[in-house]
Amino acid sequence: MHCKCGYSFLKHIRKALKKQQKYPFKSYAVISDEEYTDFLQAEIDALQCENKQSYDFYKRLGRAAGYTNSMHICPECGRLVLVKKKSTEFYVKED
Ligand SMILES: [Zn+2]
Repeated sequence: MHCKCGYSFLKHIRKALKKQQKYPFKSYAVISDEEYTDFLQAEIDALQCENKQSYDFYKRLGRAAGYTNSMHICPECGRLVLVKKKSTEFYVKED
């Protein structure tokens, strides 16, 4: 996953995970209005698992994550990069 300016988000995500550091860019979870209720129900289902280390917990969490898109702010050029399930969109901040 690259920004149009060439910045590699994945490269920096891998580096941060390896060093157990935060990502060097701002990132947000984005859930569409249409799926928001289903997302919340999936999150609630996951949180109701007593064992947060269990396969069932991660399975339920994975279902909730399936509703999640992400928005990254490129630290090089400031573009907003919306990563959706099947596509990526780029936006330039005006002011
Ligand atoms: Zn960029």
